[in-house]
Amino acid sequence: MHNLCPELGVDVPQDLLAICRSLGRPFRHRRVGRIQKNHVRNINMKRSEMYDRIRNHPEAWDMIVVGGGATGVGVAIDAASRGYDVLLLEQSDFGKGTSSRSTKLAHGGIRYLGQGNIGLVLEALKERGLLLENAPHIVHDLAFVVPNYDWWEAPFYGLGLKLYQLLAGKYGLGTSRILSREETLEHLPTLKTEGLRGGAVYFDGQFDDARLLIHMVATAYEQGATLLNYVEVMDLMRNAQGAIDGVMARDVETGYQFRAAAKIVINATGAFSDRLRLIAEPDATPMIAPSQGIHLVFDGAFLAGKSAIMVPHTRDGRVLFAIPWHGHTLVGTTDTAIPTVPLEPVAMDEEIDFILSTAGEYLAKAPTRRDVLSVFAGVRPLVRASNAAGTAELSRDHVIQVGSSGLVSVMGGKWTTYRRMAEDCVNQAAALAYLPERTCATEHLHIHGFHNDAKAYGSLSVYGSDAIEIDKLIASDQELRERLHPALPYVKAEVVFAARQEMARTVEDVLARRTRALFLNARVAVEMAPVAADLMARELAWSELEKANQVKAFRDVAANYLLRN
Ligand SMILES: Cc1cc2nc3c(=O)[nH]c(=O)nc-3n(C[C@H](O)[C@H](O)[C@H](O)COP(=O)(O)OP(=O)(O)OC[C@H]3O[C@@H](n4cnc5c(N)ncnc54)[C@H](O)[C@@H]3O)c2cc1C
Repeated sequence: MHNLCPELGVDVPQDLLAICRSLGRPFRHRRVGRIQKNHVRNINMKRSEMYDRIRNHPEAWDMIVVGGGATGVGVAIDAASRGYDVLLLEQSDFGKGTSSRSTKLAHGGIRYLGQGNIGLVLEALKERGLLLENAPHIVHDLAFVVPNYDWWEAPFYGLGLKLYQLLAGKYGLGTSRILSREETLEHLPTLKTEGLRGGAVYFDGQFDDARLLIHMVATAYEQGATLLNYVEVMDLMRNAQGAIDGVMARDVETGYQFRAAAKIVINATGAFSDRLRLIAEPDATPMIAPSQGIHLVFDGAFLAGKSAIMVPHTRDGRVLFAIPWHGHTLVGTTDTAIPTVPLEPVAMDEEIDFILSTAGEYLAKAPTRRDVLSVFAGVRPLVRASNAAGTAELSRDHVIQVGSSGLVSVMGGKWTTYRRMAEDCVNQAAALAYLPERTCATEHLHIHGFHNDAKAYGSLSVYGSDAIEIDKLIASDQELRERLHPALPYVKAEVVFAARQEMARTVEDVLARRTRALFLNARVAVEMAPVAADLMARELAWSELEKANQVKAFRDVAANYLLRN
């Protein structure tokens, strides 16, 4: 519920006014102009520099953001680009949580149409369009085909997809239409033909989630934010009135503990949100209903062609996608309620069997366990609703909750809508922290690496303009041109770049999130690990022991991505 604050003329949630009063903070805003810094081409993010900034910052930060996934980094970009002074702390690597484990679709959420949630679809379609505009080097459009095996499916899905296209308005990506059997097979040459009548095609966005996230970290940094991975927020600090006014943090690498004061603390810890909420207010009601989703990755030959398959209604009422991704075939996902949230979730056998059998209903060559190159699991940070029968029915809307301690938690939502979530969150946080009001500047803010024709960089295209920096590394040392493994296109220079400029700290950071080797082919990634460790050791001055520990730690994590046949 929102109120127009009379003295300010700004839209203010009612509970925010009440909380400001209870914390003894007058609700006053000063409106100042929009501040946006220039786009910096070449980033050079260094851990030591981030610590220097913290040490040289004795006064309270305007905002401390806890959590370095899409939501937290989105908030850091938004706040920094308005000119606020922001510190973001991530307990593991940026994107280690859900944000590297998604289906990688920038989408309006066609199935929310079926749930009648037009508002969510409209919002997400707009955000999809903005993502394509602001990060064309990482996000691109993709044709999705709904194959039809029953007579009623073509008109039914054809109509729904037309509505989806119309709702996108000026952010539309292409014309959806009904396809003949032949046209369907032109899009999907490896589709099962038995009983196939035709299909319907529509368009959505696709991206590389962890790569986009790293570029968002760079964007936040360009805008002035200070961001650290491998720093866990252990506790929250309070003022005399009991309001949260800072964090107690611990460097996971060194054990060094420090306090940082803030005018407002934002909890953007995704599926872990309740943990921090309960530290802030031990009697808080848990709000997260965690739901696991898994994906299987196969050779690209399973889904020949450039289009994806969308199955709107699997046996148990879920949506399933088979998508071409980095030359491979990505199939998912599941929606399984889970009791606790691990940092490294593991796929369950039932989930694997479900995806294999459903994929086998649609693909000419049914995949088996032996064909699985990688399996990965992620946890949706869904917000609880008392009347939903299962997690698949829970809303993907985001929620911003302001606790009685003043902790602001931004929960739920989707990757696609991270920018909008951040805007709403910063609006509320700035008001609560009594910061000068500044308008959001992210609608047309280019994401780091922005490039309109990044395809020209071949396998380095996802780096956008940073591909030039990687090319410079190669020019300075021809060894860096070599591939890490013949099965994947990643070259040694990418490891050096990740350690030198993208704050990669472990072999896993490089093989899972700076490149996507672990997600594409876990066995190959394990084979790459010693080479990657050698290169990182040179950059980060690792001892032989540290190098060996890094390779072992990576093998342990990679075991979760490998299937036992
Ligand atoms: C299987 C699956 C498929 C999906 N597919 C799509 C899709 O195709 N398109 C789409 O739009 N959305 C999709 N989503 C949703 C989307 O991925 C999530 O909504 C989004 O990634 C959540 O981001 P987040 O930043 O809130 O959480 P996270 O990415 O989990 O980030 C939270 C971070 O907080 C950190 N953290 C926790 N506690 C602390 C602490 N005490 N101190 C410091 N750091 C801490 C964690 O380490 C973590 O990195 C999917 C989700 C799943 C599970």
